[in-house]
Amino acid sequence: MSVVEETAYVALGSNLANPRHQVEQALRELDCITETTVTAHSPLYLTPPLGPPGQADYVNAVARLRTRLEPLALLDALQAIEAAHARVRGEHWGPRTLDLDLLLFGERSVEHPRLRVPHAEMHRRAFVLVPLYDIDPDLTIPGHGALHTLVQTSDRAGMRRLAEGDDD
Ligand code: ATP
Ligand code: CA
Ligand code: CA
Repeated sequence: MSVVEETAYVALGSNLANPRHQVEQALRELDCITETTVTAHSPLYLTPPLGPPGQADYVNAVARLRTRLEPLALLDALQAIEAAHARVRGEHWGPRTLDLDLLLFGERSVEHPRLRVPHAEMHRRAFVLVPLYDIDPDLTIPGHGALHTLVQTSDRAGMRRLAEGDDD
């Protein structure tokens, strides 16, 4: 724990076992992390998967947190939530019940074997950039420039916003 409170952004993704429910529940669980509060979250998006074909679409969102945890302690908490969601029986490697990536942590850069911040791929991924832009359109991604420029040039093909009550 630190005396300094920081703003962090977390990307949420799921394409297995009722993905919308996984993401909505994870948003509530993020707010339960010690020394941490969710101060905003994006709408949910349905996005085509990156990996091998045949996977179901992902539900993606981004949350903004205020936290007094250090980055690695926050990563521990994110991984504990992921582990708690990995309860699907009979599923094989590939699709995800829940993926939580730490995107940004204040102004900090972290280079650690377990943690790289800013997240190494975030500036390329529409399913991260678009929901991040919904929360804080004026953000700058260290090393990659203005978020609004990154969003404009990102490939949003196939992405659609889930309306409240939409089926997924
Ligand atoms: P990607 O990071 O490209 O989205 P992924 O989410 O599929 O890939 P995982 O299997 O979820 O990758 O995570 C692999 C490891 O990445 C984790 O064990 C974690 O230690 C490490 N890692 C490094 N940087 C980060 C970060 N910013 N957020 C979350 N995990 C990270
Ligand atoms: Ca990921
Ligand atoms: Ca991950």
